[in-house]
Amino acid sequence: MSKFWSSMVKRTEPYIPGEQLNEENIIKLNTNENPYPPSPDVLKSIQKEMEHKLQLYPSPSVDHLRQAIAAQHDVKKENIFVGNGSDEVLAFSFMAFFEPGKKILFPEITYSFYPVYSKLFNIPFEKIPLNSDFTLPKEEFFQSEGGVIFPNPNAPTGVYLSIRAVEEIVQNNPGCVVVVDEAYIDFASGSAISLINSYDNLLVVQTLSKSRSLAGLRVGFALGNAALIQALTRIKDSFNSYPIDRLAIVGAEAAMLDHTYFKQTTERIIQTREWVAKELKDYHFHVIPSQANFLFVRHNDHQAKDLYERLKQEGVVVRHFDKDPIANYLRITIGTDEEMKLLFTKLAFILDEG
Ligand code: PMP
Repeated sequence: MSKFWSSMVKRTEPYIPGEQLNEENIIKLNTNENPYPPSPDVLKSIQKEMEHKLQLYPSPSVDHLRQAIAAQHDVKKENIFVGNGSDEVLAFSFMAFFEPGKKILFPEITYSFYPVYSKLFNIPFEKIPLNSDFTLPKEEFFQSEGGVIFPNPNAPTGVYLSIRAVEEIVQNNPGCVVVVDEAYIDFASGSAISLINSYDNLLVVQTLSKSRSLAGLRVGFALGNAALIQALTRIKDSFNSYPIDRLAIVGAEAAMLDHTYFKQTTERIIQTREWVAKELKDYHFHVIPSQANFLFVRHNDHQAKDLYERLKQEGVVVRHFDKDPIANYLRITIGTDEEMKLLFTKLAFILDEG
């Protein structure tokens, strides 16, 4: 291999998502998908589009969908950028706003894509350790050299940072972009979107993969000042001027417009999360307070790795990150009530074995 390519390969450490298992009869609680199907309107819109429009290119400006998102969040469509899942929107954000030679900051325990993108785009970074209770030490993110990125709620911990604290981080990073990755925000108390009209250095990134049950359709979006959105659009146009396909556009639009269904399913997941958290404590788990659609937990007596393996043998797949300082934690996605009851049946059996 030539020197150039081998150094490129070294720099490129792919992100490995949770296992995608095909077996039937497993309970899949490892990748934070929504256990409920998307709104029935999504399927109707996709069906209609398939019957009549697939021979046509999709809209490069995605105006209707951007309008639907803008209306939902009380901003203008000029404040919205749409991409192929929020992973792609995040990748474009790294390219548009972070520079080689200027160090960016993100938490030590966080979404594992950030170091992957940093290395891929040659952006130096510093990982800021969290407090011992996994809360984010906001002052440590002030006055960055090249920008800041963090999820809110954080992943994989589920810990939420108040909007006021997010605002302080934005205020204390003049001249640098602060990217707030709100993949799980609809299960939490409030979004930083309310701040985008006041700060030109704040970019909020959201997804339809979690609260709108559309992980398979791949739609994510960013909200920010029109200048930030233009910068993202310029990067996107250099790769592919059609950001997402026709089915994704109409499906996502239908999902954004069915507010009643969205409210019902997110509230249901939040309720399930709360009883599961309580129940896990009765099973002697230490449960980190979560505002996401998952729980991050550690058992008082059992190793996370052993529990992960035993649960898997019993047909329940959760997420275990085999690395310090979180090697003794499990991340459990909130499923349906029936799935969670089955989790507890299996846990009772496993923990009883000693
Ligand atoms: N951000 C965070 C924090 C995530 O956990 C995920 C899901 N793995 C994403 C972004 C990406 O989600 P998607 O590409 O499906 O929109």
